[in-house]
Amino acid sequence: EAKAAGRGAIRHYDQSLRDRVERRLQVETALREARRRGDLRVVYQPIVELNTGRLIGAEALCRWFSPALGEITPDEFIPLAEDSGLITELSRFVIAQTLADVGRWRQAGLLPEDFVATLNVSPVLVRPGLADMVAEMVAGAGLPTSTIALELTESVLLADDPDVDTEVLKLRAAGHRLLLDDFGTGYSALSYLTRLPVDVLKLDRSFIPSGVGAGEQDGWAVVTAVLRMAQALGMQVVAEGVEHPEQAERLRRLGCDRGQGWLFGRPADADGFTSLLTMVRRAGTQPSVIA
Ligand code: C2E
Ligand code: MG
Ligand code: MG
Ligand code: MG
Repeated sequence: EAKAAGRGAIRHYDQSLRDRVERRLQVETALREARRRGDLRVVYQPIVELNTGRLIGAEALCRWFSPALGEITPDEFIPLAEDSGLITELSRFVIAQTLADVGRWRQAGLLPEDFVATLNVSPVLVRPGLADMVAEMVAGAGLPTSTIALELTESVLLADDPDVDTEVLKLRAAGHRLLLDDFGTGYSALSYLTRLPVDVLKLDRSFIPSGVGAGEQDGWAVVTAVLRMAQALGMQVVAEGVEHPEQAERLRRLGCDRGQGWLFGRPADADGFTSLLTMVRRAGTQPSVIA
């Protein structure tokens, strides 16, 4: 009887594996079409200065609605794009779209002086040619390089590959600020932080305690330690996934510079973000986007 159950479990495992392989194939095939069909979009999520509530930037995030499969999340399609080589084209699209949108906002006088749009850079792309490609696209859009910052992942800083280092240093030398995305989710060794010139740590959402209750003191102690370390290294910090006012207030008091999260705004399409910028502009010189 145990044996029969075992066989059932194996059959079940085979089936779920087959489902996953099938899904992967479907998604990959659809993704190849998506670019051509114009199914990819870019949305923008506000980044605010916690002390003032000022809108100081936005993260560009890719969205994909497949007519055949429905909305597919980046957590599913980005890894697939990385494995299948589609990431280069997808990234070119996201960069071009972001540059076009930022260019329009700038022309319209909607951007705060120090506004910076951040782009996620897949580790797969950090190889010879990346810095030249970005430089060409940014120059083509007629934007100062300082308006575009790049979000890198820990694996890039850990690569310890001269070619990777060269590209990272070239991007920085061109005038792009570098952010380290999802800080805290990967490796425990922190020595890599001093290897390449990162300007900003993005403290991963999983690090931010959900509230300020007594049970969350340890979580806040970790955040405090990270903020001190960043300060000692001369890095700024963006807290990701800020959803509640108490979190924002606590982070602010702990000296965290910036926040991003649903509290300040969900990712919005270009039209939605244009409306936000327009509202912020009308509100005066130091508008708060905190609802
Ligand atoms: P990420 O770069 O860490 O982006 C932040 C993610 O957190 C986004 O998920 C955003 O929608 C979500 N988020 C922001 N605020 C909150 C909040 O308050 N609560 C919660 N629960 N979530 C929040 P999204 O857009 O699904 O993207 C997931 C990941 O996919 C990104 O993580 C990034 O690693 C990757 N990704 C997205 N767009 C691109 C892209 O154009 N290129 C590359 N290479 N990766 C991308
Ligand atoms: Mg990011
Ligand atoms: Mg992140
Ligand atoms: Mg993330």
